[in-house]
Amino acid sequence: MKILVTNDDGINAPGIMALAAALERIGNVAVVAPDRERSAVSHALTLHHPLRAECLAPGRYSVDGTPTDCVNLGIHSLLDFHPDLVVSGINRGANLGDDVTYSGTVAAAMEATLMGIPAFAVSLACRDNNGGYGAAAEFAARLALLVAANGLPRDTFLNVNVPDIPGNQIKRPLVTIQGRRKYEGTVVDKVDPRGRGYYWIGTADLDFHDIEGSDFAAVSRGHISVTPLHLDLTNHSSIAMLKGWDIC
Ligand code: MN
Repeated sequence: MKILVTNDDGINAPGIMALAAALERIGNVAVVAPDRERSAVSHALTLHHPLRAECLAPGRYSVDGTPTDCVNLGIHSLLDFHPDLVVSGINRGANLGDDVTYSGTVAAAMEATLMGIPAFAVSLACRDNNGGYGAAAEFAARLALLVAANGLPRDTFLNVNVPDIPGNQIKRPLVTIQGRRKYEGTVVDKVDPRGRGYYWIGTADLDFHDIEGSDFAAVSRGHISVTPLHLDLTNHSSIAMLKGWDIC
């Protein structure tokens, strides 16, 4: 199996190193990742300046762009193989519920899916920089084999979140739905040392709606969460309602 690994925390992040090492045991791995942290850039694509890639070692490239740039450069220019699978992560911090719409980690898997390549994103639900990535990396390798054996439905990729608890305490993986976060009070409004106001969008320690079967519910109870995500954002159940408006 030929695997492209990327992330949004940067090529030197411990999560991508653990992921690449685990996947190397089951396949041929190349890493193309941002040269610095690019978290929360979502699906951004660099169009207005050139991109530079640096080969750090055979099959290891850093790019001064976004995770989506990395998938593009990897597949269209840098790699000497066409990957069978793209895996993005292991992100430092969860990507649960509505947060997937901000995530560079998730967007890299989305980009691969747009190209017709099976993909999944893996995140560790840690709150600090000391997360232990071993259990998440092991599960990623297991899931890679399952994806290779079974394939994924059309336009579908997987969003995996692993609780940050000792590996022997992690409960069985659950297939989940995308949950809902509570975003109240996320903007911090303060005054800087020169007396000028500033704002800081804070996302730490936000609560979530405890929806049964959701990714949040699974991870908060110690389970690994696997959510199938779809590229088609259409709300099909709203089509009939909109057709009832005087639009057409
Ligand atoms: Mn990140």
